Amino acid sequence: MLLASGVQERERAAVAQRYRLDHATSAIGAEMYVLTGQARQYVITGDPTHLIVYDREEKALQSLENRTRRISEAGASPEELDLLKQALRWADTLRDEQRAAIEAYGQGQQDRARSIMFGAEYERELDRAERLIERFQYQLDQRTAAAVDAATNVSRVWRLASEVTLGTTALLFLFVLYFLFKRRVLHPVVKLSDVVARLAAQDYDVEPPAYDKIDEIGDMAQAIRVFRENGLERQRLERERSADLAMRDLLARMTQRMQACDTQQGLEEVVQRFMPEIAPALAGRLYLLDHARNMMIAGCSWLSPVHSRIEFAPIGCWALRRGVPHRHAGIEIDVPCEHLDFADGAPADSICLPLTSQRQTLGLLYLEPRDGEDYDPNQTLEIYLKMLAENIGLALANLRLRETLREMAMADPLTGLANRRALDSRFAFEVAETERLGRSFSCVMLDIDHFKRFNDDHGHDAGDAVLRAVGETLTGVTREAGMVFRYGGEEFVLLMPGLDCEQARERGEVVRQAINALTINHEGEVLGPITVSLGLASAPEHCARSRLVQVADAALLEAKAAGRNRIHISVEQDRRLPNR
Ligand code: GH3
Ligand code: MG
Ligand code: MG
Repeated sequence: MLLASGVQERERAAVAQRYRLDHATSAIGAEMYVLTGQARQYVITGDPTHLIVYDREEKALQSLENRTRRISEAGASPEELDLLKQALRWADTLRDEQRAAIEAYGQGQQDRARSIMFGAEYERELDRAERLIERFQYQLDQRTAAAVDAATNVSRVWRLASEVTLGTTALLFLFVLYFLFKRRVLHPVVKLSDVVARLAAQDYDVEPPAYDKIDEIGDMAQAIRVFRENGLERQRLERERSADLAMRDLLARMTQRMQACDTQQGLEEVVQRFMPEIAPALAGRLYLLDHARNMMIAGCSWLSPVHSRIEFAPIGCWALRRGVPHRHAGIEIDVPCEHLDFADGAPADSICLPLTSQRQTLGLLYLEPRDGEDYDPNQTLEIYLKMLAENIGLALANLRLRETLREMAMADPLTGLANRRALDSRFAFEVAETERLGRSFSCVMLDIDHFKRFNDDHGHDAGDAVLRAVGETLTGVTREAGMVFRYGGEEFVLLMPGLDCEQARERGEVVRQAINALTINHEGEVLGPITVSLGLASAPEHCARSRLVQVADAALLEAKAAGRNRIHISVEQDRRLPNR
């Protein structure tokens, strides 16, 4: 554009030069005509005013020469200057003739003067000078027009070039703008919207891009980062809550199962099944207190614990000594329990949780990190383990209580023998067992003869003493434990699984004689002799196993009827009973 404007400057200079030259040459022509006019006026009228004007104009014509010089300086070409000089020569010739006519007029030769000024020769010369000036101007016009045309063309080329450059620059600018927009705005926005879409779909693994510039994109990225962190935190809390719920559910189920356990073995199975689920990183063992020996005895274990002994005295465990959970490693350093063995000398981590109920030690829950790994139990797990120990303690207490109640319900308080309820349950079991094994099964029903007399003669306490003595004798004579029952009053039942009629009879006879031999001292009085009657029934010889007690009872009546102090074998029904 600058170059185009430079060219235009040249164009303007050419036009201005032409104007200046035009002006100068037309002045030359005009002066030529003015002189001619004044000279002619003078030779016609003889008015001296015209002569004065002529002289003045002629002087001015002198300075016209100077102007021709200036025309040359103004930039006229040599050819143009030649033409101008020719015109000026002709103007000089005309001036000479004018001067000659004026002189002639001054000498009184008016006619000659007029013929000079109006003659054909003068007209021709005037025409020639005029034509020369016109040619000069024509050539000047041609050159100026050519210069203007050239300048216009160049200017047009430069303008076109400047327009093309401008267009290209604009395109380049737009491209750069688009590139910047894409890089600084479009890219980040697309990325951020992708992140937002994934976050909306709960995919918190996505990493929001880090745009740290302080602008709208940076603010947006920061907001998305905060949103993601909140989401992650919420997810973590939800995970914790559901893990907590799952753990509580597990503990609740374990507690329910433990409460429903009838036997210690059942309880141990529940503990063994649930413990690895509740604390998968901990191996452990359940110890139960053996009151008789005052020893902690391992009931069951899980995930193979290695450091704690199978049996140990309660005094060897700090948790049992103090009645609170004990951990010798971890944050609080403490003394390791004596029941722990560490082969390599370095005491590994372990936790002992006492199992108590109403301040009574029932057992111990022992835990240690699996495979000797380092383990750092968190606070939540420790709380769960304490809850668990409480629940196991309660379940153990429950089990003990049930056992006590059952023993109480099954035992006769006077003789310490099992009672009739216990007989019913044991009898059903033995029936099934001997039937399954195809073994004989005998039953003896025993009644003290004339027992009422002991009561009547020596008092009820003496009667009780007799009952206790008979009970002890029966327990002493029978080999298997738990096979003697007080059936009611002064009647007893002996179950003899595996013994046939003859073997049972021999045993019954031993019993009868042992009781006969009893001498009981009660408050200084000797009670006795004591005789008993026995009814014996054997399956399958006499009846079906399930009817043994009934049939033995009938045999007892027979023994009484036959005179007491004897054993009577059931004989009547046995032959008739099928399928024994
Ligand atoms: P039999 O030879 O016919 O069996 O005569 P018996 O006297 O032994 O039989 P009976 O059924 O007439 O009497 C049984 C008595 O046993 C009646 C009852 O008062 C007494 N008795 C039942 N239970 C107890 C007890 O726990 N203690 C005491 N001291 N007496 C009891
Ligand atoms: Mg009786
Ligand atoms: Mg009796």
